Amino acid sequence: MTQDIFLLIEHIQGQVSDISYIMTAAARKLAQKEGGSVIGILLGSGAEHLKDTLAVDKVIYCDHPALAEFTSDAYERTLVSLLTEYSPRAVLFGNTTLGADVSSSLSTNMEFPIVSSCIEVTESGSLISQICGGKIMVESQLADKTTLITVNPGGYKPEAGQSDSTPETIKFSPPDLENLKVKLSQYIEPDIGDVDISQEKVLVGIGRGIQREDNIELAEKLAELLGGEVCASRPVIDQGWLPTSRLVGKSGKTVKPNLYISLGISGATEHTEGVIDSKTIIAINSDPDAPIFDIAQYGIEVDLFDLIDPLLEQIESVKNESSG
Ligand SMILES: Cc1cc2nc3c(=O)[nH]c(=O)nc-3n(C[C@H](O)[C@H](O)[C@H](O)COP(=O)(O)OP(=O)(O)OC[C@H]3O[C@@H](n4cnc5c(N)ncnc54)[C@H](O)[C@@H]3O)c2cc1C
Repeated sequence: MTQDIFLLIEHIQGQVSDISYIMTAAARKLAQKEGGSVIGILLGSGAEHLKDTLAVDKVIYCDHPALAEFTSDAYERTLVSLLTEYSPRAVLFGNTTLGADVSSSLSTNMEFPIVSSCIEVTESGSLISQICGGKIMVESQLADKTTLITVNPGGYKPEAGQSDSTPETIKFSPPDLENLKVKLSQYIEPDIGDVDISQEKVLVGIGRGIQREDNIELAEKLAELLGGEVCASRPVIDQGWLPTSRLVGKSGKTVKPNLYISLGISGATEHTEGVIDSKTIIAINSDPDAPIFDIAQYGIEVDLFDLIDPLLEQIESVKNESSG
């Protein structure tokens, strides 16, 4: 086994995904401790140029038409062959649909231990994971064999894993990729819905704490006064109170507004990974231990129903003063 830290570069439709840069930043911290290099694994077809913005030391590139888009069995076959040849200290994957799929099957098939939902690598090389919807933090160490790690967004900014200097490429010959069981037939773009929340500058996010469908109009009023829109966590969408196009998080949209006001949302990682890049987050929650306060710049520990009417009145009066 070498001391090198590998990461699987995620890309979709010709774009490197932010999670690849976040993993690069985490891998650099780990490599510092382990004394190895940071090596990106890039699988694709005519996609070698995608390596150019990543702050990795080298890229192992495998080119094959079957790797043009992600499918689990083509990726898995290639990774089994590549990891057997290189035997790295650790391999990072995004805790994404793609990363979770391929890392869990590699862990089973190659008997590699796996650390899930890592958000940070400490100075001493420990892996910090956030589990049970953000309520429990776990500290783990690398095992004495190649360790697989899935990385959550949140611990590192994508910019920390970007670079202008082009990394060296090592070409890797693909294994036999005939008779694959899974083939991609087409991409189906999600319906943007009435509003594209990923483009909004001000968002009011509502969670289970809103309690009833008819309370949503309070959040809509707040959003309207601030020139924004309403979005929601999963329980609100599951109740059918807002359309799926308003869902924020792992199974919904990633948003990057200037202002995100979170009303009665606990801050589970599946939600926060979709809001972490907002410029300013204001969290309103009656539970002082709610994990949403860990990512918010401003937090108000209060029953939202005690706050919202005076808040609406205050905003209205400030707006009236400035327009009068
Ligand atoms: C594979 C997978 C994918 C997922 N994808 C997503 C996703 O894309 N988006 C998403 O949001 N979730 C997703 N989830 C669900 C996620 O794990 C959480 O369950 C969900 O985000 C919790 O929503 P919530 O914060 O609204 O509800 P809860 O966790 O129930 O939190 C409600 C919060 O409201 C507060 N509260 C209650 N009453 C009041 C009040 N009167 N005033 C102030 N505060 C109050 C409570 O203190 C609590 O913190 C996913 C889960 C899985 C397993």
